[in-house]
Amino acid sequence: MAPAPDDSARCPCGTGEVYGACCGPLHAGDREAPTAEALMRSRFSAFAADDAAYLLRTWHASTRPAELELDASILWQRLEILDVQGGPFDDAARVRFAAHYRSRPGTPAEERVRGVQREDSGFLREGGRWFYVDGVADRD
Ligand SMILES: [Zn+2]
Repeated sequence: MAPAPDDSARCPCGTGEVYGACCGPLHAGDREAPTAEALMRSRFSAFAADDAAYLLRTWHASTRPAELELDASILWQRLEILDVQGGPFDDAARVRFAAHYRSRPGTPAEERVRGVQREDSGFLREGGRWFYVDGVADRD
């Protein structure tokens, strides 16, 4: 498991903020994501930091897997938010994004991959907290 990013390092989610002022407090449980987009960003950062516990905690109970094994061979590099539907007063939202990935350094040449996962994800807010519900994904 990769260590959590340093608080003063640039947050993996791409806001330009440092981790300690962006997704860090969400991962630590000190703050809840105020919007579906913020939750999406924090989940990307959790993938980047191999934080499966956070991913499960923010997964809606209706679709949450019993356990989650992250692909250790993949490095999540960059997130692009393409579209957000649903504002701060809605309890449902959709976020379309593109997540750029590549193999971790040290991967044998013949196994190296790089690509983009595009997904249209659904989110619900319950009890003041946003949850990831499901997504339609394809990798290219
Ligand atoms: Zn962030």
